[in-house]
Amino acid sequence: VPTVAVVGRPNVGKSTLVNRILGRRAAVVQDEPGVTRDRVAYDAEWAGRDFSLVDTGGWDPDAEGMAKAIAAQAELAIKTADVVVFVVDSRVGATDADEAAARILHRAKKRVILVANKVDSERMNSDVADLWSLGLGEPYPISALHGRGSGDLLDQIVWAFPEKPTGQLKERGPRRVALVGKPNVGKSSLLNRIAGEDRAVVDNVAGTTVDPVDSLVEIDGDDWVLVDTAGLRKRVKFASGTEYYASLRTEHAVEAAEVVVVLLDASQPVAEQDQRVLTQAVESGRALVLAFNKWDLVDEDRRYYLEKEIDRELAQVAWAPRVNVSALTGRAVAKLAPALREALGGWGQRISTGELNQWISTLQAATPHPVRANKAPKVLFATQADTEPPRFILFTNAKFDKQYLKFIQRRLREDFGFPGTPIELVVKPRE
Ligand code: GDP
Repeated sequence: VPTVAVVGRPNVGKSTLVNRILGRRAAVVQDEPGVTRDRVAYDAEWAGRDFSLVDTGGWDPDAEGMAKAIAAQAELAIKTADVVVFVVDSRVGATDADEAAARILHRAKKRVILVANKVDSERMNSDVADLWSLGLGEPYPISALHGRGSGDLLDQIVWAFPEKPTGQLKERGPRRVALVGKPNVGKSSLLNRIAGEDRAVVDNVAGTTVDPVDSLVEIDGDDWVLVDTAGLRKRVKFASGTEYYASLRTEHAVEAAEVVVVLLDASQPVAEQDQRVLTQAVESGRALVLAFNKWDLVDEDRRYYLEKEIDRELAQVAWAPRVNVSALTGRAVAKLAPALREALGGWGQRISTGELNQWISTLQAATPHPVRANKAPKVLFATQADTEPPRFILFTNAKFDKQYLKFIQRRLREDFGFPGTPIELVVKPRE
């Protein structure tokens, strides 16, 4: 069965939490640091999943003497655990010892659930946000004593278990691609070029789920699911309200996809309708590839103007991989695959907290935020809280200028890439 280790500094409430999970008073609890000396394992169960729950003594990685032995026990428990529940006292906040412990957990590459204990009432939830700074993801507020939030926490623990017995991670099915663009840009033509006119919409490939509205296709040797293609297959054209239906279709397709291909007509100037589709794609937070279709119609002259247009009109998506294709002739259609892979790579890219903070401090030393009202705004700590798309949280000592945020964002892309994905920067000023 999976093993869950509960670790944390002395007196943060580990044993109370263990009792809460077990639903009985099994662990020794005393309001005195270091009472639970040894690792103790209990059989536990939640939502039909059995697991072994390991209670550890107080964990202070920098401890001396007796406490050092207890710390070693905690570290052993972490090594053998599938999931680590790291408990922090929300009333105290993250101490130096907590930060040292968080670094060890980071290095251990274990699934860690960060618990903010002693959140006895709703209004204390705000203290919890500070614990993002530990770089262990979202902190879960609970009150082990009163049971507040413990059901949610148990859900999280059980969800974090490794996939069922096989031991190997379940492989992801084919990635989901949306083909969007204004009417007549060539979506149906491209789909038919990729999929072939007559092939069935639904291929029953074992282990893949494809909706009747999706198409399973092969591009450049890889399987992909083109989502929401039923309308494109049937070449449905709406006599009136075309715009409205087109934008509704874009919305559906984008929502169902991981990566979006926005098709543009290379033979025509970039139109307002193209911009609307692009904005929809960017705001969805999906990965993005730009495909310039009808390349067979592009001559030397047009190519020159197109480059200028791209610089001018498509600056907001300069980070998206670009391919020039012709659905008519089949030109470079296979090149879509590497572009899709590149964009999905950027979408899922993660920078470690250590690397990110080192980078930010170098950046700030070289180009500091302009001083405002006698204050030098600074990032105190940064963490990438999420991927798909990448989302960064910057803990700062003051509000930040938009310009400086844009600067950070630009440099993030220059130094780390993030091709084909929007990036979100969230500033949390501590004042
Ligand atoms: P959709 O509305 O985006 O699905 O566009 P269609 O696939 O129906 O294509 C609209 C028109 O553009 C049709 O007349 C196609 O034959 C034409 N078309 C599509 N792709 C190309 C291309 O690569 N080159 C050229 N010259 N014409 C194309």
